[in-house]
Amino acid sequence: MSEDCIFCQIVAGEIPSDTVYEDEDVFAFLDANPLAPGHTLVIPKAHHERLNDLPDDTARALYDALHALIPAVEGSVDAPASNVGFNNGAASGQEVPHVHGHVIPRFEGDGGHPIHAVGGEAPDLSDDERGTIASDITDRL
Ligand code: AMP
Ligand code: ZN
Repeated sequence: MSEDCIFCQIVAGEIPSDTVYEDEDVFAFLDANPLAPGHTLVIPKAHHERLNDLPDDTARALYDALHALIPAVEGSVDAPASNVGFNNGAASGQEVPHVHGHVIPRFEGDGGHPIHAVGGEAPDLSDDERGTIASDITDRL
């Protein structure tokens, strides 16, 4: 636990939350400032800042919980769809430095946007530049 982390304090029961799911590794609760009814946050109980900091077992447990929670969250508010995403690092807009996946129910005509709206100005990349980036990603695995 990180003492000054608000999500660690929620997991520890020191701050109240609208809890929707809990297992050995994962905790899920309603977002306090929902973008839609049912907006849910899914977090590992252990404090890690970014997705890539998670140990393999924790990453799997987090995905398993998300997999189960998405249809439950959508169903609870009769939503036909959802955006599911992680702000991963401060530059992406992550405000709470404890990994959390957002499940945001979406409705036809709700005025929201697809996940493409999160990026900045779209880059104009040549085929060569795209190829170099693709190889570089592969080489780092
Ligand atoms: P992010 O910008 O991805 O770090 O999102 C942090 C999210 O945590 C925001 O959507 C906040 O509304 C939410 N949040 C912050 N404090 C609480 C809290 N005490 N209970 C529930 N959600 C919270
Ligand atoms: Zn934490």
